[in-house]
Amino acid sequence: MSRIAYVNGRYLSRREASVNIEDRGYQFADGVYELCEVRDGRLIDERRHVERLRRSLEELKIAWPLVPSALAVVMRETIRRNRVRNGIVYVQVTRGVARRDHAFPPAGTPSSLVVTARSLDPGGNERLAADGIAVITVPDDRWSRVDIKTIALLPNVLAKQAARSQGAREAWLVDREGRVTEGSSSNAWIVTADGKVVTRPADNGILRGITRSVLIDAIKAQGLVFEERAFTIAEAHTALEAFVTAASQIVMPVVRIDGRPVGSGKPGPVATALRRDFHKHAEWA
Ligand code: PLP
Repeated sequence: MSRIAYVNGRYLSRREASVNIEDRGYQFADGVYELCEVRDGRLIDERRHVERLRRSLEELKIAWPLVPSALAVVMRETIRRNRVRNGIVYVQVTRGVARRDHAFPPAGTPSSLVVTARSLDPGGNERLAADGIAVITVPDDRWSRVDIKTIALLPNVLAKQAARSQGAREAWLVDREGRVTEGSSSNAWIVTADGKVVTRPADNGILRGITRSVLIDAIKAQGLVFEERAFTIAEAHTALEAFVTAASQIVMPVVRIDGRPVGSGKPGPVATALRRDFHKHAEWA
């Protein structure tokens, strides 16, 4: 089956789908994105993802490419045309096409919208979660507005590649004080020796993950103690458990940090139970 992408008003086969070379996304990474899980044919936490998209667009003064209700239709149609039951839908909005100039294009320049969807093998994700993943740590050298979900991801790309080249699946980014901010494409968590579930506050230092927000509800519902504070690499090394969260992975146990086992070196009970329960707390649409 040929895959279909929505590009600025048209559904095109992926082979034909392209954007203008003067699109500001291509020229300046001047755009934002969202990625939403599709599970059993339903959208997971769509409302929160669209709300975060609204915030990203507002922070960067990029116009909505479509009204949100029309975007919801395009997301569903892209999912349907690609026959995705389990996978992801990806939405990217850029400041549109204009002659290359750093300053914003003339008022009224339409923003660009691309929506794609693809299936993911749920079994593959489950197998990965059963084994757990390795992470490495690298300095966090990103800009100070990482709370905006922009497509400008070069430091994240380099961090992820550093992880892959060392046989790890994720890189944890570390601030100047030696504290973990987040993963290159996920939020970072530990379970401390006394059983507290800890993640960094969602200030400007991290992206406020939707999975992170929903998981806080799951943690409280399970009667676990939740602590929102920064943690150091040293603390992560002595943690009972560690894990990462993202819409494409839900809760993914971390079993090695910089080559050293976390806890027993196997996925722990807290991460496993939170992964199992996550979708009870998510919104299905
Ligand atoms: N942090 C970063 C840097 C990310 O890129 C992502 C996901 O892409 C996340 C956190 C997790 O966000 P969410 O749970 O909304 O997928």
